[in-house]
Amino acid sequence: MTRTFTYRGSAAHIVFGAGKRSEIGDWVEKLSCSNALVLSTPHQEGDAARLSDQLGSLSAGVFAKATMHTPVDVTDEAMEAVKSARADCVVSLGGGSTTGLGKAIAYRTDLPQVVIPTTYAGSEVTPILGQTEGGRKTTVRGDSILPEVVIYDPELTMGLPLSMSLTSGLNAMAHAAEALYAQDRNPVSSLMAAEGLAAFKQSLPALVADSSDADARADALYGAWLCGTVLGTVGMALHHKICHTLGGSFDTPHAETHAIMLPHTVGFNAGAVPAELQPIADLFGATPGAGLFDFSKEISAPQALKDLGLTEADLDRASEIATEAPYWNPRPIDRVSIRQLLQDAWEGSRPAL
Ligand code: NAD
Repeated sequence: MTRTFTYRGSAAHIVFGAGKRSEIGDWVEKLSCSNALVLSTPHQEGDAARLSDQLGSLSAGVFAKATMHTPVDVTDEAMEAVKSARADCVVSLGGGSTTGLGKAIAYRTDLPQVVIPTTYAGSEVTPILGQTEGGRKTTVRGDSILPEVVIYDPELTMGLPLSMSLTSGLNAMAHAAEALYAQDRNPVSSLMAAEGLAAFKQSLPALVADSSDADARADALYGAWLCGTVLGTVGMALHHKICHTLGGSFDTPHAETHAIMLPHTVGFNAGAVPAELQPIADLFGATPGAGLFDFSKEISAPQALKDLGLTEADLDRASEIATEAPYWNPRPIDRVSIRQLLQDAWEGSRPAL
């Protein structure tokens, strides 16, 4: 085998450990900032207020209207808050929705960002921003979008409901699965992907047994960092394309859609890239797709698209949209095979490969 690759390390500072949120003020000052606007969803406003209190004179207040898929009108409102508070950085406390708002502000202003993630979505370590306007979600990439500092504090994930922990974990695992066969993968991304999958294999069943298991919470968040990092480093393929289609055009919930599709998209590609997906077979047994399906069943994660309110008729339209524009995937795609893939995921059947 001829070994060729390019590798670029991330410029972000990663701080990991229980209780590390107490260092927030130090990190704001290390960024040469003194007036941080704290962002959250309405649901996490109380936590954001506590973080703002902790920041004391370094806080410019709280903006608690972050919304899934980063609608541009919410960003416009947040930009007004940034201007009127004269904020010189943002602190995003929450999942991918809050991180998305912080990125949208940074994209428009180049303000530095500190992110304190509380789900496993992984957005905090990617230079990617998805935003929605007029019902259309578009994606931009850029160095100003990548958060400067990420503080992973597993204590903040203790309250993440179990069902959300499982689907968010499977969402993260999907980043790693596609990173294993990415065209532009490198030795570091492949190591991180395999380690991230192993961290979730260990931690998700432990969370099912006890969702307040501190070690399992730390392992899952460690997995989220690894899987998010590879999402930000290498190109994704069929899995992310289909989930983007289902979420964008049929409004299916983000993490659940990823969780359901993962065994099917991996099974679809398994025959084309058996060596690349061997780490999944080694970890989960059986074949890669079936192994992931059995794992998701074991932890009682959602397994059928029909349970998300999609109809069989939607599958025709979804397969059309998902195959409209050509993109790279290890196994060539066409409308007929993608329609069958969606049928299997809709029914929740066990993939053969
Ligand atoms: P989310 O951020 O929408 O969170 C879902 C809900 O859970 C929210 O109400 C939130 O406040 C709440 N929540 C979050 N953490 C909690 C905790 N610890 N305890 C209690 N409640 C908590 O969900 P998500 O799945 O993290 O993010 C999804 C969004 O992120 C989507 O818009 C997706 O497109 C985006 N995303 C972007 C990237 C990227 O690289 N750009 C990567 C992954 C996800």
